[in-house]
Amino acid sequence: MSHTPPQAAGGPLAGLRVMEIASMAPAPFACTLLADLGAEVLRFDRASDVDPETNHSTDPLARGRRSIALDLKHPEGAALVRRLAGHADVLLDKIGLHAQDTAELFFDSVRVPAANLLGTEGRGFVHLMERLPRERMSIAVWAQCVTETALEQTLEYCTGRAAFGKPVADFQHSRFLLAELTTQADVTRVYVDRAIEALKDGTLTAVDAAKAKWWATELQTKTVDRCLQLHGDYGYMAEYPIGRAYLDARIQTIYSGTTEIMKEISGRSLATSGKAGR
Ligand SMILES: Cc1cc2nc3c(=O)[nH]c(=O)nc-3n(C[C@H](O)[C@H](O)[C@H](O)COP(=O)(O)OP(=O)(O)OC[C@H]3O[C@@H](n4cnc5c(N)ncnc54)[C@H](O)[C@@H]3O)c2cc1C
Repeated sequence: MSHTPPQAAGGPLAGLRVMEIASMAPAPFACTLLADLGAEVLRFDRASDVDPETNHSTDPLARGRRSIALDLKHPEGAALVRRLAGHADVLLDKIGLHAQDTAELFFDSVRVPAANLLGTEGRGFVHLMERLPRERMSIAVWAQCVTETALEQTLEYCTGRAAFGKPVADFQHSRFLLAELTTQADVTRVYVDRAIEALKDGTLTAVDAAKAKWWATELQTKTVDRCLQLHGDYGYMAEYPIGRAYLDARIQTIYSGTTEIMKEISGRSLATSGKAGR
């Protein structure tokens, strides 16, 4: 992104500082950045790489426009930025997973050279489905790692933190809860490890991957929630890793197929095979 230093604007924008932008990163984050740099008006010029046939630009804010100027201090200007951002390929404002960006990507009128074709034309969805068990296993493994880490951190915390004259770990409730959660984590690890072996051997079924995914992620969200509780108010503070683990965990039972869909996959196989186990 390049820009000229803020200048005084004329005409209807008189009195406001304008920052001209030669090329623009996706809103709204670039807008926020420019506002932080002192811009009170954002002016977007049409990008030079507009496709003459489609009139589409790679710059989501410049599509079909010669130039727009937005007064960030005016409610209408700020609202328009939000509306434009809503139509653009922008980063999503998630409640967790702040270390990784998530954006919706739209591919309009994109031509892919035949040499760059992956797989078989017209079978993209099938190829995607074929890879889903692997993706679900990666999430199950991640879930298991977070579950075990949260338990280790919580045990350490509860051993060091005293309440009513003794370590939190010495309360019978804490011991029972940690015993319950570590038992579940140990049992889940065996199942996840077995599924990893099957993945390596090429024998992992979509059903077993679905079982591993929903079970391990539900255990993760439950474990992290209970571990946060054992931390007391420190658990709610961003400085403690359990707070971040809590926020990051919540998506795990949703993406790559929700728990409900995983149970559908598993349940349908029961109905068709008539078998409940191995
Ligand atoms: C951070 C993040 C990253 C993501 N990354 C990707 C990505 O890389 N690629 C990608 O393709 N997608 C991605 N997604 C999208 C994600 O996979 C979907 O949000 C998820 O699969 C759920 O679909 P949905 O939001 O449309 O929920 P919906 O289908 O609207 O479901 C809403 C609720 O209804 C339930 N439900 C839906 N159908 C049924 C049913 N048949 N029976 C019972 N209950 C049902 C669901 O379980 C859920 O509780 C991402 C989402 C997030 C938040």
